[in-house]
Amino acid sequence: MRLQASLLCLSCLILSSQSQVEEKGSLRRSNDPTGRCHYTFTVASPVESSCPESSMKPENEGVLPRLTLLESMVSRLIAGGDGGSGRQMGSKGEEPLQEAYAQVTSERNQLQQDKDRLTRQIQDLQKRLGELSQEAENLRQTPCKQTHTSGAGQRENRPAGDGFRNAAYQEMKAEVTEVPASHLIPEGNHNFMGCGELLSVGDPVMHKKADSITGKYGVWLQDPEPRGPHYTNKTVWRIDAVGKDVRQLFAYEDMDQFSRGFPMKVLILPEPVESTGATMYRGSLYYQRKRSRSLIRYDLASESLATRLELPHAGFHGQYPYSWGGYTDIDLAVDEQGLWAIYSTSKAKGAIVISQLDPKSLEVKKSWETNIRKNTVANAFMVCGRLYTVASYTAPNTTVNFMFDTATSTGRAVAVPFKNKYRYNSMMDYNHAQRKLYAWDNFHMVTYNIRLGRAGRGSS
Ligand code: CA
Repeated sequence: MRLQASLLCLSCLILSSQSQVEEKGSLRRSNDPTGRCHYTFTVASPVESSCPESSMKPENEGVLPRLTLLESMVSRLIAGGDGGSGRQMGSKGEEPLQEAYAQVTSERNQLQQDKDRLTRQIQDLQKRLGELSQEAENLRQTPCKQTHTSGAGQRENRPAGDGFRNAAYQEMKAEVTEVPASHLIPEGNHNFMGCGELLSVGDPVMHKKADSITGKYGVWLQDPEPRGPHYTNKTVWRIDAVGKDVRQLFAYEDMDQFSRGFPMKVLILPEPVESTGATMYRGSLYYQRKRSRSLIRYDLASESLATRLELPHAGFHGQYPYSWGGYTDIDLAVDEQGLWAIYSTSKAKGAIVISQLDPKSLEVKKSWETNIRKNTVANAFMVCGRLYTVASYTAPNTTVNFMFDTATSTGRAVAVPFKNKYRYNSMMDYNHAQRKLYAWDNFHMVTYNIRLGRAGRGSS
């Protein structure tokens, strides 16, 4: 409205100026060289008498400020049209975006701080790991010095300047005392229960002495892997092998009852036993039938003959016995790897043949021929897939004199001291669950503790 009023006054001023031309103004006319007319109009005073002075004067006085105001408004309008208004409208739409942007920026900054903090922590941990590794290496090189002082003393005696915290040191000490324990096994750890080469055989421990002539030689065993509820790894089994028709299998509840001579049961075998080569494995007694190369698996739970099979080409009844004689032609053995037969054949010409047998079917799974003359050694047993022979059955101080490894099909001489305390050793068998040798030495039923180790193959 104000703008319209101002325009009205402006037009009024122009009209009044035209009427003033006739009385006080002057109009001149002139021609230019091109023939056009030029009119020049001159006014002496802005006051025009034809307009009411009382109403026109204030209007004139207000024109300039109003024009200024108009120009200002127009200029603002013009300025607003080329982006100013756009910015104002857009700002409403951008508000959430700006807030989100601000939030993301804030989060990004926070994440950056977290990342920096974690990076510093990683660097600290890496540095500490390096320190611990170095300390562990130092301790490994001097582990023996710690054994003669108390743990508290060690910590107190440590130099204060090594920058090591007590807790960390204790952890590393625990590790150091464990690491050598596993690595020292080959040289002397008695608790090592893994497979390995025979390192030593202890002195014989006597558990029972037979009280009659039928007990001069025989077989006594414990099942390393018993089956069923009736018999356990504590059950002791015994066969007195002297006699023409050996069929009695004595069962003892445990070693104590065995030593006292109180059997809990006597089983009568379906076929007579030849010699002292029988063995016990997974709830069955395995033995060679008298005067034959037939192998028999006798099931202890059902007390019946489970399997009967000939061992192909095996010599028997004095053809290829051990040096002791006694029809020890076929020697059965058990170790960590299963059931074995130790014997000879005409093809092997008296050299020891080793066959791994299927425990259920008694079929030969694989055979090895050694160059050990069977009649030159006193007895043999298997440990961890290796055959060991004993040189003499009568010498009080003899040796385990030969080893044959089925894993490599190679053998070599060894010299592990072995004692025949009672000078007539007729049976030797290994029990991997007990980690002992069981032997029957001249009426005496004895065990030997043995030590195994990870000594490298090929070394003496
Ligand atoms: Ca044997």
